[in-house]
Amino acid sequence: MFVYFVEFWSSSYNVSLAAATYSETYRNISDAYIHLNLLERLWAAWYAYMQNDVIATGLMIFVIHELFYFGRCLPWLVIDGIPYFQKYKIQQGKVNSWKEQWQCTRTVLISHFTVELPQIWLFHPICNYFGMSHDVPFPSFLTMFYQISLFFCLEDTWHYWNHRLLHYGPFYKYIHKQHHLYSAPFGLAAEYASPIEVMILGLGTIGSPILWCALTKNLHIFTVYIWIVLRLFQAVDAHSGYEFPWSLHHFLPFWAGADHHDDHHKYFIGNYASSFRWWDFLLDTEAGPKAKADRIARQQSKSEKAAAAAKKLE
Ligand SMILES: [Zn+2]
Ligand SMILES: [Zn+2]
Repeated sequence: MFVYFVEFWSSSYNVSLAAATYSETYRNISDAYIHLNLLERLWAAWYAYMQNDVIATGLMIFVIHELFYFGRCLPWLVIDGIPYFQKYKIQQGKVNSWKEQWQCTRTVLISHFTVELPQIWLFHPICNYFGMSHDVPFPSFLTMFYQISLFFCLEDTWHYWNHRLLHYGPFYKYIHKQHHLYSAPFGLAAEYASPIEVMILGLGTIGSPILWCALTKNLHIFTVYIWIVLRLFQAVDAHSGYEFPWSLHHFLPFWAGADHHDDHHKYFIGNYASSFRWWDFLLDTEAGPKAKADRIARQQSKSEKAAAAAKKLE
């Protein structure tokens, strides 16, 4: 047990190449491992320099999360201020004031530092326990592509069912209602949610790669980072409140996007999935008046067919 604990709190990277500064460590790594690419050298130097894998991974994932979440929100803030883009706003006339956006940012930041930051230190030990690799070189592009595609599907399924459950009576009232404060969402509102919701829905993002790794023992932490960044982009974009002729769902019809999730915030019912449209389509939970009209038309034609079949039997 003690050995296991020490292993968690030390570095599996080449200690002899560690130097007093990060740039010196990077030079040592570059000289010793000339076959590595730039990103792999930066990665190896970071672990060698830190000399503590738990802190190295924890810090890296926290910084990645903050950088890419707020970084992705920035273009939406800029777009809000450019009149040309206003014709692409889904809920026309709805303006999210700077004060409202700042209040949302403050709440999200407090949650990141008080709820997420303490849990982030568990990430490396959990990855280690399930046999996730953090060695160099990184896996091939193809490996990362199929694994991340699978995580998108798994997370979307988890999100659909749990989000649907969060709309049930007491769960909605005590947990999910906070996220629905904004009926016309904006990028920063993506993570505006109660800590319990963050943990329930976040489990889909973190749990999917962990489940895959537990079953196959074939996963790299770098792949998980890429997945987390893409999932952040998906969540921020889905809350952006803008629908463009070049939005992804026009090219990938099963991709959800802002068009799908904005209706969820507007109508409160339906469109529970995160990345894809298939669960809501298959289970007839699409949101909005058009989906409702289609549903009624489908039900009508079904009962007409049943009545015609019953008449034939008479
Ligand atoms: Zn909801
Ligand atoms: Zn939302």
